[in-house]
Amino acid sequence: MHILLLGKNGQLGWELQRALSPLGRVTALDRHSTEHCGDLSRLDELAATVRTLCPDVIVNAAAHTAVDRAESEPELARTLNALAPGVLAREAAQLGATLVHYSTDYVFDGSGEAPWQEGDATGPLSVYGRTKLEGEQLVQQSGARHLIFRTSWVYAARGGNFAKTMLRLAAERERLTVIDDQFGAPTGADLLADLSAHAIRAVQQRPELSGLYHAVAAGQTTWHDYARYVIDHARRAGVPLKTPADGIAPVPTSAFPTPARRPGNSRLSTAKLQAAFELVLPDWQQGVARMLDEILPATQAPKG
Ligand code: NDP
Repeated sequence: MHILLLGKNGQLGWELQRALSPLGRVTALDRHSTEHCGDLSRLDELAATVRTLCPDVIVNAAAHTAVDRAESEPELARTLNALAPGVLAREAAQLGATLVHYSTDYVFDGSGEAPWQEGDATGPLSVYGRTKLEGEQLVQQSGARHLIFRTSWVYAARGGNFAKTMLRLAAERERLTVIDDQFGAPTGADLLADLSAHAIRAVQQRPELSGLYHAVAAGQTTWHDYARYVIDHARRAGVPLKTPADGIAPVPTSAFPTPARRPGNSRLSTAKLQAAFELVLPDWQQGVARMLDEILPATQAPKG
């Protein structure tokens, strides 16, 4: 199997380089690649890359993920998040290849408290959400065999993430304020990459599995409880912190105005994914604890 991976150095792309390698030959590109164009803003050259390489599977981990900046550069966001996946899907359809693509909880309006199902009505609140939704639609309309995974609150040990920001702030300040009215599941890029590899193998054998799936860790939390979990874990590991256990104040989203509106309810039901691919998704705490143990100094990781 020959796999073309785009966005190889993002949180997810990096983990996909590892997780896809046992499936076959992987050609991994980013926007700076020179031999083949991996820049999602250059649509004609992107199409030429697919035609030249003729992969069996295209995995697109690249996107315009700067949610607030997308509000002021909607055309670039649309090119990367919608038109480029559309081109990849069209080329995949012509080749008979499978396209694996990633989308977001931000396609929903965040109302209610029930976990969103794949077929629920969408209602994005932001340019990012709208462009990601259009990308899904172009992939679905292309006729290509595809897997679209909607995920949420992605983190990885590599690069910056919410947990690292909280640890830095907790080392500097006696009091933190963190939003407590957005609900979702922090999802590790490693988990997403591993389930992608499993699903690719399955869909190559059973094309009827082609479709849209919600893919997030199990359970739910708020940014506030997520921050508390991270800081408690670090404290138990012996990391010196200024913020006491009761020093993290819950605040509503309105306390932190941002250019892009975020959904309050980002809970995603993963029943379809688990049934189709016979997968069990671990609780979000499991992956976050593992990531923390990777990023905290070795002497500070809690034992057992
Ligand atoms: P990252 O921001 O870590 O990675 C995105 C990658 O896209 C980066 O490597 C970036 O490269 C690359 N990229 C940006 N512009 C271009 C371009 N013009 N051409 C080629 N590559 C480009 O995101 P994640 O790994 O977290 O996200 C993976 C997927 O998951 C995306 O589809 C995203 O929409 C989705 N998702 C992410 C969530 C999250 O919380 N992060 C939540 C829900 C869904 P560079 O570093 O050079 O800019």
